[in-house]
Amino acid sequence: MTCAGDIDATMRCCTLCPRRCRADRVSGPLGVCRAGSVVKVFRWGPHFGEEPPISGSRGSGTVFFSHCPLGCIYCQNHPWTAGGLGDEVGVAGLAGILRDLAAKGCHNWNLVTPEPWMPQIREAVAEVRGSGVSLPVVCNTSAYANVETMSEYRELCDIALVDLRYSGAACAAEASHAPDYPVFARRFVRWCRDTLGPLRIGPDGIATGGTVVRILVLPGHAEEAVESLRYLRNACGRDITVSIMSQYTPAHAALSRPGWDRTITEEEFARVTDEAARLGLDEGWTQPWASAVGNDVFLGANMQPGEGTVAAGVEAGVSLGSNLGNRAENIRKALDALAATPGVRLVAVSDFYETEPVDVPPEFADARFVNAAAVFSVSIPLEEWSRRCHEVEDALGRVRTGYHHPRPIDVDLLWFGEETRDEPHLHLPHPQISTRRFVCEPLAQIRPGLRLPGLGATVRELLAALPEKPAVTPLREGDTP
Ligand code: SF4
Repeated sequence: MTCAGDIDATMRCCTLCPRRCRADRVSGPLGVCRAGSVVKVFRWGPHFGEEPPISGSRGSGTVFFSHCPLGCIYCQNHPWTAGGLGDEVGVAGLAGILRDLAAKGCHNWNLVTPEPWMPQIREAVAEVRGSGVSLPVVCNTSAYANVETMSEYRELCDIALVDLRYSGAACAAEASHAPDYPVFARRFVRWCRDTLGPLRIGPDGIATGGTVVRILVLPGHAEEAVESLRYLRNACGRDITVSIMSQYTPAHAALSRPGWDRTITEEEFARVTDEAARLGLDEGWTQPWASAVGNDVFLGANMQPGEGTVAAGVEAGVSLGSNLGNRAENIRKALDALAATPGVRLVAVSDFYETEPVDVPPEFADARFVNAAAVFSVSIPLEEWSRRCHEVEDALGRVRTGYHHPRPIDVDLLWFGEETRDEPHLHLPHPQISTRRFVCEPLAQIRPGLRLPGLGATVRELLAALPEKPAVTPLREGDTP
């Protein structure tokens, strides 16, 4: 365990990260990251937007530390990483936060950008563990890290959630002022793989240890990601767990930097995912490319300081249908009610379509439907979201009288991030996406390039393979709503 004297000595000549500033963080002048000597935190809370075995059903107990040695021009968390916002909580305050996250039932302690604070975190974790409370520690890092430092603080890295952002010095210099990033990051990823091993998941589906490497595809720099994948394949083997991310959203200085001021294209993302497939790197996750569009939920500018669930939305799709009463109005009311749910944001809605009923009893054959599809960003657990969809149906007068009887509203979950389920009342992704034109056609309007797990093709391709009948036609102005 670190003692206060050790913390003081480290703070007076800091060499914790590859910048090796030798800064006196007690008396100044400060180093590149601008961190002082008292541990500072911007926000903490259960996080439902990490990879499935990290977030689980109760959330990952995430602590967003202030200050960061890397300083990326596009950092979504820049208000507290570059801007230094946050509260000086000290070791005792940090221990209280860790206890609070454990009491909330979080699966792990997820330390985001912990590098400048390793001595203080060690002391806080030791204090909490000494009182009999313990969770696995996720070291959530840019990988711009000294292997020597991480070896010294080995107990703060049960699970490495580690980025591999750049392969070349030029790109690393341009975007993070760190031409030496590839050298340090590759060395650290290799250390994680050798020391922590591959990702291990318990019988409850929650990660217990090991390594996840995140590949964030950057605009105009897909080749950086491709080279990182090739490195991983050679250095770590095929069983390394890889999370390929499409969510780059320009923020901070990137908003005014040509080339960095856009999301990635579908072609750029496909270039990276195709290479991962070619290399046989099939352990892990691939974000839907659609996450690249309109994903501003995770932007730090939207996050408040202090305690709270982290609003990192999982993209979730729903299909809506109505064939009773004012059908279009019913769908609008359902969309409004769903969007008003705390932790939920409406991202996209299709046009409304009138459709011939499918598989209904003969007496209801004339009860034509109005259908639509919508995409939400959802930061509540799947079970809660499913319950909420049922509540909205009930609130709008849905009475479950019989199979395919007329109903004022039907809200079907189509997908929820990368979740796959095959349960009596929950199939994800929903099998009707590939078999029903009334689901696929509205969805193809707002997410044509979406490729969901297990469906094998994009929504656009699925739609092209469906028969024209039963017909689905856009609901026009003047049609009976
Ligand atoms: S943690 Fe901060 S002060 Fe310490 S070496 Fe890195 S950038 Fe410099």
